[in-house]
Amino acid sequence: MEEPRKKEEEKIIRSLNFIEEIIENDIRNGVNDSRVHTRFPPEPNGYLHIGHAKSICLNFGLSKKYNGKTNLRFDDTNPVKEEVEYVDSIMEDVKWLGFDWEDRLFYASDYFEQLYGYAVILIRKGKAFVCDMTAEEISETRGTPTRPGKESPFRHRSVEENIDLFARMRAGEFPDGSRVLRAKIDLTSPNMHMRDPVLYRILHTHHHRTGNQWCIYPMYDFAHGQSDSIERITHSICTLEFEVHRPLYDWFIHEIGIYAPRQIEFARLNMTYTVMSKRKLLELVRDGNVTGWDDPRMPTICGLRRRGYTPESIRNFAETIGVAKRDNIIDVSLLEFCIREDLNKRANRLMAVLDPVKIVIDNYPEELVEEMEAVNNPEDETKGKRKLPFTKTIFIERDDFMEDPPNKFFRLAPGREVRLKAAYIIKCEHVVKDPKTGEIEEIHCTYDPLTKSGMPESNRKVKGTLHWVSEKYAIKTEVRLYDRLFVMENPDEAEEGKTYLDYLNPDSLKIVTAMIEPAVKNAQILEKYQFERIGYFSVDHDSTAQNLVFNRVVSLKDSWSKVEKVK
Ligand code: ATP
Ligand code: MG
Repeated sequence: MEEPRKKEEEKIIRSLNFIEEIIENDIRNGVNDSRVHTRFPPEPNGYLHIGHAKSICLNFGLSKKYNGKTNLRFDDTNPVKEEVEYVDSIMEDVKWLGFDWEDRLFYASDYFEQLYGYAVILIRKGKAFVCDMTAEEISETRGTPTRPGKESPFRHRSVEENIDLFARMRAGEFPDGSRVLRAKIDLTSPNMHMRDPVLYRILHTHHHRTGNQWCIYPMYDFAHGQSDSIERITHSICTLEFEVHRPLYDWFIHEIGIYAPRQIEFARLNMTYTVMSKRKLLELVRDGNVTGWDDPRMPTICGLRRRGYTPESIRNFAETIGVAKRDNIIDVSLLEFCIREDLNKRANRLMAVLDPVKIVIDNYPEELVEEMEAVNNPEDETKGKRKLPFTKTIFIERDDFMEDPPNKFFRLAPGREVRLKAAYIIKCEHVVKDPKTGEIEEIHCTYDPLTKSGMPESNRKVKGTLHWVSEKYAIKTEVRLYDRLFVMENPDEAEEGKTYLDYLNPDSLKIVTAMIEPAVKNAQILEKYQFERIGYFSVDHDSTAQNLVFNRVVSLKDSWSKVEKVK
């Protein structure tokens, strides 16, 4: 009972992160009547990943902490890349993580009419113009950070002409790419985003919500800040790459003359041994390097869920890594630590043998079946105990036996004793090998009837304790052993001539047939277990009534920390 209290205290005394400091300051100074209103604004062009989870936990976490609100808003300004499938998956993932946007589900596309109106305001003020240059011409004349851009020949069109052309762009009179609406700001600004950026482009494309109602679409930059303003967001939290966009967002808000949210940037989450960009994740799915967005090796939220991660472990991870102002890369072992810690408390134990070798207990009666008693979860008494059949023939892990062991090997070997967990102490007498291959087929042992687990005489100590299952009662089960998807810590930093795909881990999935104790029979999809001495496993949705399939969530110990890092 010591532990949880300590943890609570830690939470209370954790110093404020820089965003909380800003917010508490704003609350003290009565900014926005001391309201706190955040939003999570995904673009529905892919599935959410663990980086998004961090942003979700941050935004929803802040409003929870400061008694505020968080909106879910789809920034759906690019009909070419966006799909309803993504919208649905994003909502499912946010809910699964444990957050609730209540009745505040919005879409940037809900504001298309309003955004159009804002553009017209800018035109009327002489702050925006219709430009007939091609995309290439625009990019060629933008200059470089050290060389100013060149004015568009259309920059001085009259307000009337601009109003007329913009209305006709909307009416569908012009083909894609023939004209854009641009802001008239400053072609000498060292900030490239201020050099007459494009606000609207013509795209005769169906939109997943507005259908064919529009053939001009606002650029993300013209929609994002104004959407925050329309929703009266107080603190617009976004990742660092938007810092250089902030002057542009401020300029729009100021020129249009609307409510100004405060933008705060934080460092995006990067994690070792994976990639996080949606483009790359989409590529992995498309090229068949993984089985789908929810492949348990993916850093996507649905992949982590299928793998067996819990929302609590992910929220705890997000809380533990905190928020930073500088880009960094978080070791994936921290995420693995969080799930181990969580599943240790909640997962029932099972005996499962992943690489079975047969043991015959020569002095054990042929037909006898003893019901042994095993503790379901030593961390949680309320989980009770279960029965476990013990018989003459059992399986143990092949690597728990060595014919010619080194001194420090405390498992089974000829002439040596081990305890079978929740059962007896056995002693290895001899082995039977396949005469052709030399492979061990049977290990013959004797058991000591006085060492039955739980009996008063059973206190005799031996160095090793092994898990086992009865041959007769074992349930054959498919187990998918997942490992890291990449062998390189940061696959985004591929060496010259290579791409991140050259660093895929060829051993990221191994499938074995395990023998598991009969208590596994009632396992439900996504139910999690600790396989004694091995790791945490979760029931995959490929399971059927006849055939269970388990995913390895994580091994019991951090095996990678011992392995030299692959560079
Ligand atoms: P990607 O670069 O993976 O395509 P994105 O930034 O384009 O991601 P959005 O859908 O625009 O994806 O992101 C929605 C929100 O999630 C944004 O507020 C964004 O800042 C945040 N976000 C995205 N990736 C991360 C990350 N790795 N760490 C923290 N927050 C992130
Ligand atoms: Mg984005």
